[in-house]
Amino acid sequence: METISKKHNFGAGPCILPQSVMEKAAQAVLNWNNSGLSILEISHRIPEFETVVRQTQDLVRELMGVPEDYAILFMQGGASTQFSMVPQNFLNRKGAYLDTGFFAIKAIKEARYFGEVDIVASSEDQAYNYIPEIEASHLDADYLHITSNNTIEGTEMFSYPKLGVPLICDMSSDIFSQVIDVSDFDLIYAGAQKNMGPAGMTLVIVKNALLDTVKKPVPSMSDYRIFRDNLSLYNTPPVFSIYVAMLNLQWLKEKGGVAAIEKENQMKAEMLYAEIDRNSLFSGIAQRAHRSRMNVTFRGTDAEMEKAFLEFAAKRDIVGVRGFPTMGGFRASMYNALPVESVGILVKAMQDFEG
Ligand SMILES: *Cc1c(COP(=O)(O)O)cnc(C)c1O
Repeated sequence: METISKKHNFGAGPCILPQSVMEKAAQAVLNWNNSGLSILEISHRIPEFETVVRQTQDLVRELMGVPEDYAILFMQGGASTQFSMVPQNFLNRKGAYLDTGFFAIKAIKEARYFGEVDIVASSEDQAYNYIPEIEASHLDADYLHITSNNTIEGTEMFSYPKLGVPLICDMSSDIFSQVIDVSDFDLIYAGAQKNMGPAGMTLVIVKNALLDTVKKPVPSMSDYRIFRDNLSLYNTPPVFSIYVAMLNLQWLKEKGGVAAIEKENQMKAEMLYAEIDRNSLFSGIAQRAHRSRMNVTFRGTDAEMEKAFLEFAAKRDIVGVRGFPTMGGFRASMYNALPVESVGILVKAMQDFEG
């Protein structure tokens, strides 16, 4: 099979995946496991696909150290559907939300369809360039919702609040990037396309005890219990997305798991932030203590210089570094599969551009 010469892909999502995963996925599209069928045309009801679902669950459980009393679900609708599913299931009286920017705001908007929302802290006052502290030591709410990594603004949480209510986390853009203690959370969700696989599948890790608290009627496709009790096969799941996520998690396991990739992610982040801080033409956007290792946001000196650098970088096969439209500047996303070498090439481009 032909392998194209690859770009250095700093795109924020859908994300870069390892070349070996791409090759295995391409092979499965042509002839899956020598079955004479493409992964795109198999029934999701055959035992062989059930095995894929179980293996993917096992890999998530092993790599993240998910305790036995948590269910692992593969859903559709992206992380954005979780914004409404969470309150639909768990908001009875009041949902508490930490307002850390673009995606947190979207989660808050959806929660308001289902009840009262308490914004316990916000970093809106400084254009979301930091993670705000929650003043209270105990919350009076059905749950607290946080966003562990703010993909647009480039901020990340490195510790998580314990405030006596179930903790629900949108972990879309830093899941599998660092070792966490899943038992700090009651529900974690993440769209696959940031650090797990191709778009289409949304991972949900949820404590069974939280599901036992659901008292209101919930339509089937929004009911986590239905997905848990049917091995995520209540309806047709995103077969290909689950399969490629499995391949990617196998790759991660072979690399030494989350602890090993965390070291690499730390190194990549240090390399790029060091250059941003050194280079006279660039400046970081997020406050230092809250800088994301996954999505590095920075600016140039002015719009003209930024445009020129994007063109300069493109000539070196660097793609995906344009900032989100509302943010401007640059954003370099450095998910698990982005090689250290690519970060070196970006850093070198910044140095050569400075001259
Ligand atoms: C990308 C992203 C989302 C939205 O994900 P979709 O799968 O497009 O719905 C939500 N939250 C965070 C933190 C994200 O990075």
